[in-house]
Amino acid sequence: MSLIENIIRTEIRDLSAYHVADSSGFVKLDAMENPYTLSAALQSALAERLAQVDLNRYPVPSYSALKNAIKKEFGIPVNYDVVLGNGSDELISMVSVACAKPGASVLAPVPGFVMYAMSARLAGLKFVGVPLRADLTLDKPAMLAAIHEHRPAITYLAYPNNPTGTLFEVADIEDILRAVGDSGVVIVDEAYQPFALSSFMSRLAEFDNLIVMRTVSKLGLAGIRLGYMSGSQALLNEFEKVRPPYNINVLTEAAAEFMLQHVAVLDAQAALLREQRTLLAAALQQLKGVEVFPSAANFLLIRVPQAEQVFANLLKQKILVKNVGKMHALLENCLRITVSTPAENDLFLDALKASL
Ligand SMILES: *Cc1c(COP(=O)(O)O)cnc(C)c1O
Repeated sequence: MSLIENIIRTEIRDLSAYHVADSSGFVKLDAMENPYTLSAALQSALAERLAQVDLNRYPVPSYSALKNAIKKEFGIPVNYDVVLGNGSDELISMVSVACAKPGASVLAPVPGFVMYAMSARLAGLKFVGVPLRADLTLDKPAMLAAIHEHRPAITYLAYPNNPTGTLFEVADIEDILRAVGDSGVVIVDEAYQPFALSSFMSRLAEFDNLIVMRTVSKLGLAGIRLGYMSGSQALLNEFEKVRPPYNINVLTEAAAEFMLQHVAVLDAQAALLREQRTLLAAALQQLKGVEVFPSAANFLLIRVPQAEQVFANLLKQKILVKNVGKMHALLENCLRITVSTPAENDLFLDALKASL
């Protein structure tokens, strides 16, 4: 046996590393980033703030000022706390590690966010994917049957879902929360909340097994890597034990505190993107052969004839979208396009017309 075979777990050797396309020189519509940058005035105020940070010191692991700002600006219910993560990717991984009892399983609709399955496998949990319906809505009877069969320790519901953009029905999520009961946590992942304007955060008190997870990434701060989750204190106490004590670095902490004082700027950008989503969806619907799925996120999922070819043609025109056709049978011939500025959306539309 080789060194690798001797020491690396089989599940890890069988995985392929998370692939990120090289995007230099492209109109980048593949990763749900906010295309807007900060004004020159805000940039220099931020620079001044960051220059004050004591880089020689460890962060203070209570992060109380940052947590208080998050609770105030993002509508965390009174008396609820948050756990911070280096992106919500880290929160997902923390929950997986905390719940990885032998034989435990993780359930999520598929196609869904790839990190749920990835993180489950890394932690040694079994992943059960429940297919959406053909129209990419939630198959509630199938979800309830799978919950009954597998008694998942963790159930993920991305609200809205990535890569489909679907906003699952509130009543379906409530039924899932009740069906899971005290045999598992249900994580409502609200990464796209700024574009959905619909949330379970205010309902934490109704469900002891509900965790609401969010990130500042899609709001416009993907680069600083900051996520947070809230839920009952009993659950948060346990997840907190898994959190690396200094997981939020001092620059992220300072930048986030600064941006939370200017969160209206980000909210205004999200409002522009919501408007652009409506316009882009309408323009796409005009194109013959293009099917547009309803989206409550800052991206649109479309189905085109011969998506491989269309994707390649877009690349030649320096437009990078995400080809999700191979991700799941339900996504055959589908492309996912991040909604951007009017100028970039127009570039994409023109390139698409030339590519079909
Ligand atoms: C982008 C995304 C995240 C990851 O957010 P980070 O905070 O950048 O790690 C989590 N969940 C869903 C559904 C996402 O689409």
